[in-house]
Amino acid sequence: MSEIIKMRAAYKGYKEPWVVEEVDMDISDLAPYDCIIRVESCGICGSDLGGASDAFPYEGHNLAGHEIAGIVYRVGEKVTRIKEGDHVIATLAREGCGHCRECVEGNRYACTNSTNAGKAMPPNRNISPIYKSDGEALYFACTNFSGWADYTFASEENLVKIPDDIPFEIASIVGCGVITGFFGVVNRAELKPFDTVAVIGCGGVGLSALQGAKFCGAFPIIAIDVFDEKLEYAKKLGADYVINAKTTPDVVAEVRRITEGYGVDCAIVASPGGQLKRQGFNMLPANHGTLFCLGYSRDEPLDLNGFEVTRGRVIRGASMGSTRISTQIPKLLQLYKAGKIDLDSMVSNRFPLEKVAEAIDSTMNSPVRRNVLIMDEKLL
Ligand SMILES: [Zn+2]
Ligand SMILES: [Zn+2]
Repeated sequence: MSEIIKMRAAYKGYKEPWVVEEVDMDISDLAPYDCIIRVESCGICGSDLGGASDAFPYEGHNLAGHEIAGIVYRVGEKVTRIKEGDHVIATLAREGCGHCRECVEGNRYACTNSTNAGKAMPPNRNISPIYKSDGEALYFACTNFSGWADYTFASEENLVKIPDDIPFEIASIVGCGVITGFFGVVNRAELKPFDTVAVIGCGGVGLSALQGAKFCGAFPIIAIDVFDEKLEYAKKLGADYVINAKTTPDVVAEVRRITEGYGVDCAIVASPGGQLKRQGFNMLPANHGTLFCLGYSRDEPLDLNGFEVTRGRVIRGASMGSTRISTQIPKLLQLYKAGKIDLDSMVSNRFPLEKVAEAIDSTMNSPVRRNVLIMDEKLL
């Protein structure tokens, strides 16, 4: 017997505007390890906008939204860690099977047995079990999530149970932007106390990376952006120096001036663009240091010659922070509750689902940290 959830969802066709309409989600064939989540809050992440951008033609209509917090509505028959009514984060990072080579080697985030999320990048997008009122099946834009909607599917391996007293808007941004930046740096940048760090790009990922660097004992931390508003938040969240790259003629020279000619041990680049990564590399000392790259982008190549790395400088990065979701996300939330990291300052604006186009426009065209959608308008 078919079972349908009627819900609102945002979707978009190539060179069409985002619309929010009532759609049907067919939950008749719930896979054994899948859950259905009632979405409470979902962030606006740049990866969604990349996946559903008009830069490349695509057919059909896209769903999006992968920075999700909500309440479990239904669980598949083999789900064991999660139960109905649990408050959860649904994240593209995943628990991992525990027994493939990557998992056994400690790289659970790179599990090769994982099932669904993150596989729907164009051009091989996946058709969702969600249908427009005229019967047309909707595609997933860049992930197998439909967080800009009242409900979404998620595999158990992409879910983390969270305490009921964590605000959903905070939980949602943790699911992508915060863990990408914070755990990217904590897990992969190999910072030591007193390492000097530059953070280039102070949006949601960059400010999370900045807090990760501070957590690791970095000092001083130099934050770089083209918006003074973002730099104000960088100061609030722990930057010791800020540089506005728009009004500073030579950013690398300014970094060297601040560091008495030394440069930085680690340049974290949390903004797309090969030129910015090259700029970060130029901030390193001649014989060591790390260029650390974060975030998803259809990036241009990084211009380096072999000799520049022969002398010892390295390039590292992390996807979804290489986060061990079931242990590290609960600890991050404990840090938040203890006031040791500031996630409240990471939310810029709250929008109802109907205003998703406005939320996206604000994300793309103004100096925001993270915009979030709140599904229940009474909570706005
Ligand atoms: Zn994201
Ligand atoms: Zn595995």
